[in-house]
Amino acid sequence: MEKNPNSLKTIFVTGGAGFIGSTLVRYLIDETLHTVVTVDKLTYAGNLDSLASVAGSDRHCFEKVDICDAAGIAELFTRYQPDGIIHLAAESHVDRSIDGPAAFLNTNIIGTFTLLEVARGYWASLPSERRAQFRFHHVSTDEVYGSLGSQGLFTEESPYRPNSPYSASKAASDHLARAWYHTYGLPVLVTNCSNNYGPFHFPEKLIPLMILNALEAKPLPVYGDGLQVRDWLYVDDHARAIALVFETGSVGEVYNIGGGSECRNIDIVRMICDLLEELRPRPQGRYDDLITYVTDRPGHDRRYAIDASKLGNELGWAPKESLETGLRKTVQWYLDNEGWWSRVRDGSYKGERLGLHVGTSE
Ligand code: NAD
Repeated sequence: MEKNPNSLKTIFVTGGAGFIGSTLVRYLIDETLHTVVTVDKLTYAGNLDSLASVAGSDRHCFEKVDICDAAGIAELFTRYQPDGIIHLAAESHVDRSIDGPAAFLNTNIIGTFTLLEVARGYWASLPSERRAQFRFHHVSTDEVYGSLGSQGLFTEESPYRPNSPYSASKAASDHLARAWYHTYGLPVLVTNCSNNYGPFHFPEKLIPLMILNALEAKPLPVYGDGLQVRDWLYVDDHARAIALVFETGSVGEVYNIGGGSECRNIDIVRMICDLLEELRPRPQGRYDDLITYVTDRPGHDRRYAIDASKLGNELGWAPKESLETGLRKTVQWYLDNEGWWSRVRDGSYKGERLGLHVGTSE
């Protein structure tokens, strides 16, 4: 985005204390002149440490509000009069959705519905020029499309076939966003992105978990045969893509975002081991000696891969990082930022295995 004083906006970022949301908030504060209001409930995954670099900015405010709280959200719209909202707040971890789907249905579906409804009432009350400029950008995942075989890519036309409670709840929220555009005319944009990685990633997800377990000489648990394929995207590239779609995307459109970096889980783990071998060699043994195959995740999707050509052709986006450069930056960041992750690990999450309790609910 250009630093254009004539296009200053106030933007709500829900989930702005999470992994991708905090990357987006830092990007908007550092690279634009917009004002950002971070709206976040601060669940176990939300962390104000991730926003420390923007805490002193007079263009950033933090509001601890649950997106399911309609009155609380409405009060924020009245007080800040935003020009748009970028919605990332969600329960995001597939293993947790298997153990306890209720929180996922609540935040991802009811929370999104609540935001859409409050935003619609606010938007309808705006003067016509501001109403035309307003945007509701819903951030979602490629997991809504289900699992691919060894060939093919997900496009914006791929059918929805979610397989986990997490992806089903995200699929439902995508449908709500679409319906609020078609039924009420709310200016909605939707992006569906592949697996992200990078700094400030909560260490229950594959890449940070492997880095931290390796540094602590703990087993590196690889699910099943480790041959599941994901299309990895460095989180800064995702934040840039979101900002670009928010500013220049066509209302009512869906844009897929992906890194074009397919890799099998076991190969990611080996790449991390090789990087650590180079950057912080083990005193004894090798990091890949720690690799341990464990029971697969129930219903584990085999392959995701994204065709991001619409975003590239129409809006000119391309990732800046390859998997090799992005993973090197990520490993180096975890080596340099023990203060951040040791505080995260001191909290509620102790690195335990989640997501094997099939058949139970909250
Ligand atoms: P995250 O779990 O790191 O962060 C989620 C944030 O939402 C946290 O700060 C949490 O406190 C907040 N939150 C949760 N429930 C809330 C509620 N009820 N009210 C207000 N705030 C609440 O997630 P992430 O990995 O940064 O993902 C952000 C978004 O991007 C999600 O919508 C996710 O579905 C989507 N996405 C993630 C990926 C990925 O690889 N991580 C890929 C594609 C899309």
